[in-house]
Amino acid sequence: MANQVPVAEGVFTWPSEEPRLLASRCTACGNHMFPIQQDCPKCSGSSTERVELGRTGTLWTWTIQGYPPKSPPYAGDDDPVTFEPFGVGYVEIDGIVRVESRLTTADRDELEIGMELEMVLDPLYINDDGDEVVTFAFAPANSGGA
Ligand SMILES: [Zn+2]
Repeated sequence: MANQVPVAEGVFTWPSEEPRLLASRCTACGNHMFPIQQDCPKCSGSSTERVELGRTGTLWTWTIQGYPPKSPPYAGDDDPVTFEPFGVGYVEIDGIVRVESRLTTADRDELEIGMELEMVLDPLYINDDGDEVVTFAFAPANSGGA
């Protein structure tokens, strides 16, 4: 099995059996931000601390990405011929922050606003070292059955 490496540093806890997304919490007003930011857009404070988010959330809104994204630079398959559409959603975690995330399904029948989701790692591609580059994604919480 290929070694896994995160697509970016500081986005989720790593290495970890159960990685968690990393966010900032403003120590002045309690506002949460993802990804990590130095300054709070809510109160303009510049004192933030790192927090780990829960691994489950609810789907706030979603869409289907039907063609390779132009920006930010897309690390996955950007060939329009072989590209496979994927779901993109805003996931509300712990009732405190909304995270833009890939979804593991692009099936409209499997996506419903307010549904429970859980964080998973989604393989993007194999890098030159033979490592499997992974990003975070959210999957329907009942996808494991039972
Ligand atoms: Zn603040």
